[in-house]
Amino acid sequence: MLADRRGRRISYLRISVTDRCNLRCRYCTGGIKKFISHDDILRYEELHGIIDTALDLGVSKVRLTGGEPFMRLGFPDFVRAVLARHPGIDLRVTTNATLLAPHLDSLRQAGLRRLNISLDTLDRERFAEITGRDLFDEVHGSILRALELGYDVKINAVGLRGINDDELPAFLELASEQPIDVRYIEFMPMGGCGRWGPDAVWPSEAILQRAMKIAPLEEVQDTDPTRGPARVYRIKGGKGRLGLISPLSGHICSICNRLRLTSDGRLRTCLFSDKEYRLRPILRHPKLGLPFAAEVMRRATLDKPIGEELLRARRETELVCSKGMLSIGG
Ligand code: SAM
Repeated sequence: MLADRRGRRISYLRISVTDRCNLRCRYCTGGIKKFISHDDILRYEELHGIIDTALDLGVSKVRLTGGEPFMRLGFPDFVRAVLARHPGIDLRVTTNATLLAPHLDSLRQAGLRRLNISLDTLDRERFAEITGRDLFDEVHGSILRALELGYDVKINAVGLRGINDDELPAFLELASEQPIDVRYIEFMPMGGCGRWGPDAVWPSEAILQRAMKIAPLEEVQDTDPTRGPARVYRIKGGKGRLGLISPLSGHICSICNRLRLTSDGRLRTCLFSDKEYRLRPILRHPKLGLPFAAEVMRRATLDKPIGEELLRARRETELVCSKGMLSIGG
């Protein structure tokens, strides 16, 4: 089992399958100079090995993310293969949904149920401004089709002060009319954010206060110790819910149950720590391989930091971590 010295059990692994993305979100891709070379990206068979090992070590939930995961050749086949190999797995995909439409039916048939779709605006022109691509209609169409197919859809919107904070009523309306969890994530100033700094942070509490003036909200009490990071609110009379994810203002370190793997095989035990454990050379070493990688995962987990303490120790203007989300996977 994977657990740290404080007794936190790891049950959730987030895997970035690529650092490439077809969008250029201004807060995410600012610092990108070059992408990881193909040879350095973990191969699908290596990812299967990591997932097998993680499940053996007590992980039950795996999220595939990126970059944009659908940018990687063969990604839908990989998702199907993981589901076939591990019928009981709680597998989720995080995507910008611009390339999703052709794969929705077959992935649903293969057993994929949960999609997190990143969407920061419901306005087509603003979408193009934020992401650098005029692809709002593709995303919107995929969301509606995913709902028709019975997917559990969550929309993740990064709350950006002065950029999309006027759209809270529209997002609440969407969550009221459709069975969708709309979750606002606090913007984190991290590597790759370009010119976007702490001024753009729109704290969850401010979002909540504003949302309560717009719609009748009722907090959903979730006592499950392995629950996700969102505080969730039912919209009375509506079909969906509002969620608030507060990595900066409301820490969930005490219940953090996750590890992250970058697409080039670096294990990260805390979003706010730049410490990485390089699994790729171990996986490709003729005498080491998966058993040794499992041991590294176990030892790395023992020293999993408390992110809140790392944040407190940083200066106000400092980035929360030096890598950008594109490399880490969100
Ligand atoms: N391409 C996929 C997508 O768009 O969902 C997966 C990768 S993307 C890096 C994962 C998530 O990280 C997205 O929801 C994105 O908005 C979020 N993200 C990126 N940079 C962020 C930042 N600085 N602060 C908060 N969230 C960020």
